[in-house]
Amino acid sequence: MNFHVMTLFPDMVRAGLSESIIGRAAEKGLLSVEAYNIRDFAFNKHNKVDDYTYGGGAGMLMQAEPVYRCYEDILRRIAVRRNKEDVSGVRVVYMTPQGKLFDQDIASEFAKEEDLILLCGHYEGIDERVLEEIVTDSVSVGDYVLTGGEIPAMAVVDAVSRLVPGVLHNGDSSETESFSDGLLEYPQYSRPEVWHDRKVPSVLLSGDHAAVDRWRHEQALLRTKERRPDLYEAYCLKHD
Ligand code: SAM
Repeated sequence: MNFHVMTLFPDMVRAGLSESIIGRAAEKGLLSVEAYNIRDFAFNKHNKVDDYTYGGGAGMLMQAEPVYRCYEDILRRIAVRRNKEDVSGVRVVYMTPQGKLFDQDIASEFAKEEDLILLCGHYEGIDERVLEEIVTDSVSVGDYVLTGGEIPAMAVVDAVSRLVPGVLHNGDSSETESFSDGLLEYPQYSRPEVWHDRKVPSVLLSGDHAAVDRWRHEQALLRTKERRPDLYEAYCLKHD
């Protein structure tokens, strides 16, 4: 899986995704994360990529042309790698508070792609015309406004990467985690058996795998009902 991040702050993206599980997966060749500096595609001598908004208002807007040129450059690189002229089906995800709320289902959908282009806005955002022309999906990481799309893009790359086969050591772990079956994950414990007078639930020490599974499922139900009644209701409807 190949991620292509269009940004004004490529070092931020590289720094955020070059360590830990994602960094190791990239080293192993299971995925790649390329950050492209939109400023490299500026078309004036001062490398300016933003301008005032028509109609007035505070703040600057990223201009359409540098974003479009950067997109074309990425498509050219993908075409060379795939040895194909037509790569028009590649998805372009714009990170925006106006997008669909990113969740595990969207992450699973994106994980099926060979290439994913992520577009990060800054300032007041990006000229609408280039968004209309290239964006296939608009995604938000929550109902709040951040200064740029880099942190949301890193969150998307991270969540999608975990679903790429081979990225997690234990292939099972993404299947039992929160949201994978519509429930939050059960509580977990590690050594020691007693910490600050708090004991690990005895069923987890029993060696009875069926009892452990039952307990975990009950805990997942309880936790979801308490913390995310919306998810619990959807789960109950689906599972009668
Ligand atoms: N003027 C825009 C609006 O009101 O919708 C907000 C622009 S925001 C200050 C700058 C950039 O940060 C956006 O173009 C987007 O890429 C990113 N961004 C901010 N909040 C986000 C969120 N909740 N989810 C995804 N991207 C976000």
